[in-house]
Amino acid sequence: MTAVELAEVTKSYPGGVSALRGVSLSVGYGEMVAIVGPSGSGKSTMLHVIGTLDRPSTGQVRIDGHDVAALSDRGLSALRAGRIGFVFQQFHLAPGQSAVDNVADGLLYTGTPLRKRRERARTALARVGLDDRLDHAPHELSGGERQRVAIARAVVGEPALLLADEPTGNLDSASGAEVMGLLRELHAGGATVLVITHDRGIAAALPRQVSMRDGMVVPGE
Ligand code: ADP
Repeated sequence: MTAVELAEVTKSYPGGVSALRGVSLSVGYGEMVAIVGPSGSGKSTMLHVIGTLDRPSTGQVRIDGHDVAALSDRGLSALRAGRIGFVFQQFHLAPGQSAVDNVADGLLYTGTPLRKRRERARTALARVGLDDRLDHAPHELSGGERQRVAIARAVVGEPALLLADEPTGNLDSASGAEVMGLLRELHAGGATVLVITHDRGIAAALPRQVSMRDGMVVPGE
């Protein structure tokens, strides 16, 4: 069983844009993959399809052993909530809510009681080196710290798959390096990680690169 299996996936948006034009990709459990390519090449669309935020127009998508086409919207939400963690360029933290509660929200749909959610959130924050920032709201944290909170939220439920869309895009280079170091640590601990980046330097430092152009994977790159 593979973590991600895409076979001949296409995605067209209303208005006729073909964002994906026949993408096949296999990612094994425990891999760390950089997805690189120019703006508009289809990287985010592919990550959305992998993250089950979007269904493909045609082709097959298997995530963590599930054929996405066979799942109802409810089944898809359950797969997404339980097995996939997301990290975005813009952090997407709830303002005015402490780091602990932001991370605890990552367990909202698991039926875990609040007390236990907060306990696991504290452990996840310790894992990203923020055990001294538990009660800080996002506006009291640096950009790099915010992204580390977002990563803690993404991994608190121990997902099979961690998807990051330009996680260093809003950070200075030192904080960006820290965030990439953290993602690499999670990978070393067994996590399956896909990272979109347009930064060739970041991509080159990861164990595997998948290059995209015009909605397709560039073979052998
Ligand atoms: P990347 O992440 O590599 O910049 P995207 O996947 O965001 O690429 O976009 C691929 C193509 O699909 C682009 O031409 C973009 O304009 C188009 N696109 C992306 N999202 C939408 C949408 N919701 N509706 C219409 N077109 C879209």
